[in-house]
Amino acid sequence: MPELPEVETIKNELLETVIGKEIASVKIRLPKILKVDESVEASKNELDNPAILFTKILTNAKIKNVRRRAKLIIIELSNNYSIVVHLKLTGRLLYNIIPDPHTHFIFEFKDSSRLLFNDLRQFGYLKLIKNEQIKNLFLKENFGPEPLENDFTLEMFKNILAKKKRSRIKIFLLDQKNIAGIGNIYANEICFKAKVDPARVIGALSDQETEKIFLAIKEILALAIKYKGTSTDAYRNIFGQKGNFVPFLKVYGRQKKKCLRKGCEGVIERINLGNRGTFFCPKCQR
Ligand SMILES: [Zn+2]
Repeated sequence: MPELPEVETIKNELLETVIGKEIASVKIRLPKILKVDESVEASKNELDNPAILFTKILTNAKIKNVRRRAKLIIIELSNNYSIVVHLKLTGRLLYNIIPDPHTHFIFEFKDSSRLLFNDLRQFGYLKLIKNEQIKNLFLKENFGPEPLENDFTLEMFKNILAKKKRSRIKIFLLDQKNIAGIGNIYANEICFKAKVDPARVIGALSDQETEKIFLAIKEILALAIKYKGTSTDAYRNIFGQKGNFVPFLKVYGRQKKKCLRKGCEGVIERINLGNRGTFFCPKCQR
C-alpha cells in the first residue's frame, strides 16, 4: 500500500502538472469507486447515482490545489468542493497515460491532458466533499500528527507513546491514529534503523531508544520522499514510473539474507506481528 512517501510524491507531482487546469469532462467507468461525503447536498437520484453528481460538480471546475494528509490526497477545486483520493492497496493516479481495463475514472482537462485513476483490486476510492468539511473528515478519521511537520517533536512523540505503554512498537507505528502515514515497509525500516526489536513493548523502551525511533521516523520518511517512494508492489508515480527507494531497504523483504549493518553477522528474520509481515535482525535489533 502506498505510504506517506509514495502519497507525498504523487501529491508533489500533481502540484507540478494539474494545478490551474480546467476539467472539460469526466469519464466514469466504475461508479462503485465513487463516494459522496454525507455533508454534500444532493438529490436522492444523485446520491443513488454518484456519477451524475460527480459529472455535474466536476465539469468546468478548475484544480486549485492538491494536498496530502496521512495517506489521503485532497484535490481541491475552484468551486468549494474537493475530491479526496485514497489509493488503498493498488490505486494509482496517472497523468497522460493511455487508459486500460483498470482505468475507472478519467479527468479530461481542457488542454487535452488527462488524469486517470486506475485500481487493479478496486479498494481505492474518490470521495466528493465540501471544502469546509475536510477538517471534520480528518477529525472523524482521528489521524495522528504528520511525522515530517516541525510540530511533531520528540516531546509530542513521547506523549503519544505514554498513552500506549503496553503496545508493541511496530504495531504502534502502523496505527494511523498514533502517527499518520507510516505503513508496513517503513515501520520495519524505522525499527531497524533505531536498532529496536519491532516486538518490543513501548513501556520498556529507554529514553535513548525512544529518541532513536523518533529520529529514524523523520530520516527514513524524508529519504524515501527524496527517492520518490518504494515500488515493491503496485506503487507507481503519476508518470507510471517506479519509486527508487528499494535499494535503500535494509530489512523489508530481506528474510534469510545477511544483515546489512556494518559488523553485524545476523540474518534477517520474518515473523508475523499484528498480522503483518515483520522483518528484523535478531542480532542487532534488541
Ligand atoms: Zn543485524
